[in-house]
Amino acid sequence: MKKGILNYTKSELIELVSEKNIEKFRVEQIFIWIYRFGKTSFLDMTNLNKNLRNILDNEFYIYRPKIANVAKSVDGTIKFLLELDDKKTIETVFIPEFNDDSIGEKNLKRTTICVSSQIGCAVGCKFCNTGYGGFCRNLTTEEIIGQFLIVKDYLKFWENPDRLSNIVFMGMGEPLFNYENVLKAIDNIIADEMEGVSRRKITISTSGISSILSKISQNICCKLAISLHAPNNEIRSKIMPINNTFNIESIINACIEYSKYHEYLKITFEYLLLRGVNDSENCAIELAKLFRNLNAKVNLLQFNPWPGCDFIPSTEATVAQFQHALEKSGINVTLRKRRGEDIMAACGQLNSIIKI
Ligand code: SF4
Repeated sequence: MKKGILNYTKSELIELVSEKNIEKFRVEQIFIWIYRFGKTSFLDMTNLNKNLRNILDNEFYIYRPKIANVAKSVDGTIKFLLELDDKKTIETVFIPEFNDDSIGEKNLKRTTICVSSQIGCAVGCKFCNTGYGGFCRNLTTEEIIGQFLIVKDYLKFWENPDRLSNIVFMGMGEPLFNYENVLKAIDNIIADEMEGVSRRKITISTSGISSILSKISQNICCKLAISLHAPNNEIRSKIMPINNTFNIESIINACIEYSKYHEYLKITFEYLLLRGVNDSENCAIELAKLFRNLNAKVNLLQFNPWPGCDFIPSTEATVAQFQHALEKSGINVTLRKRRGEDIMAACGQLNSIIKI
């Protein structure tokens, strides 16, 4: 049976093919074809001799998921429904940002691909449509990498690698519950061959699985975002039941641990404002106190409702008051724009039809 080559990091592949007397520099050439030029057939790798191309073609395949559906938002965001080999589906979102209000190639400032790490999610945050849909399984390394390769195919980004600026693990799933495959995927993305995406442009977003975060801090070679969404355990446990296992203190301690290895990288704390739940001025003041010993910034998010959810967004005035209170406490805050809300592609709205 053929093996999926995207499942291997460069060093794993070098070891695997060494028994066939394939030299290390050949593996580097293969990586360039796959990750820089987007090739999906070994037979097109013209600087490899025919014999080697045939050997590779008999032993390996280069994975792509199938595009089952594409939804385009008025703001330029594109949501992909991707079908995997076992017919299960996941969602991946492409988010362009423009220099001004006019949407168009010429105004493109930066682009982000939001990838999924699992089919569904077991964490069950109350405000999240993905969590509402339940958990199915972890994605393999090739299914993670395949998401942005297929998006690059679709958008014809191969001729201009700089077009893709950021990759965020903020799609479906809790990346730290699938950290081995996530870290392998990142390893391949930031390999020299991938061009255009540096480790500072990749973010893992976690609901704060502190035991795993402490264990692998040293190996997370990219930026970290924590979905905090509450200033204290009482509120957080109500909206994120996982807080009963991994509470705020344990998360902050794990972040301090992460910072020891990545001093120069600011940790982002995501904070979703929910009307009457976590959006008071006192909440903002309490929140600011948590970051005393951290190089932290806060991303404020406005809630994107989905059918059947129990929450409503905070008013514009409350959002402004909350932001101001954080700033007054010396916290670096960004109010994130809603993106792709009209196609259910915004934060917390993803939920493909899960075929368990
Ligand atoms: S917010 Fe993230 S961790 Fe929470 S249920 Fe949704 S996908 Fe899972």
